[in-house]
Amino acid sequence: MKIDEKGNMIVGTTAILVVALILICIFVVSSINYINNQNIDSETNDNFKYIVDDYSTNLEISGREAIAQATEKVYSGLPVLNSNNQIKKNLNKILNEKNEEYDKKYGIKITSETQSVENTDSPWKLLFKVKLNVEKGNEKFSKIIEKNASVEGLRDPLPIAKLTVLSGILTYDDKIHYKTALAGYMLLHHFDSPESYIEATAPLTMKKCPYDPYIHHGDPNVLDDCLDKGYFHESADGSCYLCRLEGKGKCPHYGFEVFIQTHTPLKNESLSCSDHVVFADHYNGEKINPDDWDSLILDSSHRKKYGLDEDG
Ligand SMILES: [Zn+2]
Ligand SMILES: [Zn+2]
Repeated sequence: MKIDEKGNMIVGTTAILVVALILICIFVVSSINYINNQNIDSETNDNFKYIVDDYSTNLEISGREAIAQATEKVYSGLPVLNSNNQIKKNLNKILNEKNEEYDKKYGIKITSETQSVENTDSPWKLLFKVKLNVEKGNEKFSKIIEKNASVEGLRDPLPIAKLTVLSGILTYDDKIHYKTALAGYMLLHHFDSPESYIEATAPLTMKKCPYDPYIHHGDPNVLDDCLDKGYFHESADGSCYLCRLEGKGKCPHYGFEVFIQTHTPLKNESLSCSDHVVFADHYNGEKINPDDWDSLILDSSHRKKYGLDEDG
């Protein structure tokens, strides 16, 4: 009987020890697994965060490059029929090259698809949305990133898109030199005094006019400086950059207007020189100063807007 009791105790104790050992083993194994998984997760998250950050930072530059390529297409004489699609296509190509780089360097598979290029509250900024799919090993992530890109410093595509490179327009000294292109266009459409616009000039590079509110253009020397520097103005009547690429002189979006400066001794009434009037709205104005060869030809509402209605 004593031996039996002893035997039972030994069996009992052994059983408890074995169970405890098994429990400890399960705990250790699952802990190791948990820690390993955590490491994999945070590593992938770091990669993903890095990629998203990198993409967001670069989207400002890549987006602008995609717009600039569309502008270059216009200047090389090819029409851009749908600026939205053209810019999306350009950006996808730029991003695809980047994705190949990532694959080569880090073995990360990225696909990116430009969702949209949109106007914003400011005509100087376009909003890009890009859908990003990232894959590494078994992990997959997906995110839409957004960034604004600026059109400041790009060339104005409207004159070429509207009149074509064959019209004889030249660009030098950071100016558009219309030569006889604008006079020819006006003659064709039977507008008054087309000869006034022979040798007319306009700014080439998009620069933001700092004389805001615009009524300050009536202050001493402001208009001269604005014309000299070749500034562009925000305008609800003028067309946005996307529509300028398509050769539209006006559009429903908030856009730009720029003065087309004539250099003529003629004093006839002719088209008011804001570019949306010359290219789309077509109403007349008169020289602000009839004796000045370089005087702007402006209608009364534009004179009011720019504070120029009292000048003789
Ligand atoms: Zn100005
Ligand atoms: Zn537009």
